[in-house]
Amino acid sequence: MPELPEVEITRQSFAQAIQGAKILRVNLGKALRWPLGCEPSALIGMQVLGVRRRAKYLLVDLSGGLLLVHLGMSGSLRFSSAMPAMGLHEHFEMQTTQGTLRLKDPRRFGAVVYARSPLDTAAQKLLGHLGPEPLESDFTVAYFKNTLSGKTAAIKTVLLDARVVVGVGNIYANEALFLAKINPKAAAGKLSAERVQRLLQAIQQVLKRALAVGGSTLKDFSNAQGKEGYFQLEMMVYDREGEPCRVCGSLVRTLRQGQRSTFYCPQCQKR
Ligand SMILES: [Zn+2]
Repeated sequence: MPELPEVEITRQSFAQAIQGAKILRVNLGKALRWPLGCEPSALIGMQVLGVRRRAKYLLVDLSGGLLLVHLGMSGSLRFSSAMPAMGLHEHFEMQTTQGTLRLKDPRRFGAVVYARSPLDTAAQKLLGHLGPEPLESDFTVAYFKNTLSGKTAAIKTVLLDARVVVGVGNIYANEALFLAKINPKAAAGKLSAERVQRLLQAIQQVLKRALAVGGSTLKDFSNAQGKEGYFQLEMMVYDREGEPCRVCGSLVRTLRQGQRSTFYCPQCQKR
């Protein structure tokens, strides 16, 4: 599934190329997770002002509102001036004066949603509950400690909660807890300030590395210009059940927490 790094890399790969473009036509394929929320023809003539990212949403700012694009489980965007006819798995297409933006999404958990403004109910329904960005300055130790305090749930489960911090998917939660030497079952509210700080730094470190190599999770990830060949991040514990810990040699264990797989080193992450 595309995670924060893949979404950000996708953004960077077409944001400049589409900026300033005028929308000529919008075509829809099969239904996506949520409806567009307006007639496709209502977008014609609007200008693309820029592309931002919030959590795993790409926000395409238009002269008359914005589009919220989510890649779901299997979505990818392509932006090109030379496009063949829409394929079987392509369910949204926006032709502009500078090229065509297209969403390919075989599993159709992705979506493109129009909102008149970021404060509009359509946008707030998707963005309103989101916590801070993990790499922005408002994700501070004080905020993090304060938000975790009183929570009895396991820290691993809490890290996946977008109300606490966005963009920490299952892979990054596992890897960050390993780097911070914190047991995934530890009660979130019981972590000392020092351990909370270590965890925050570990989250940022893991995400920055993933951004630097161009994503971490998708073997066949390519950006919106079709560039492939991104490296996969070398995982410390994620998806390494029964393999030796890269630090101490103990065998990596797994457990289920809130329907998600947790991977950890019983020696390095004792408490
Ligand atoms: Zn270990």
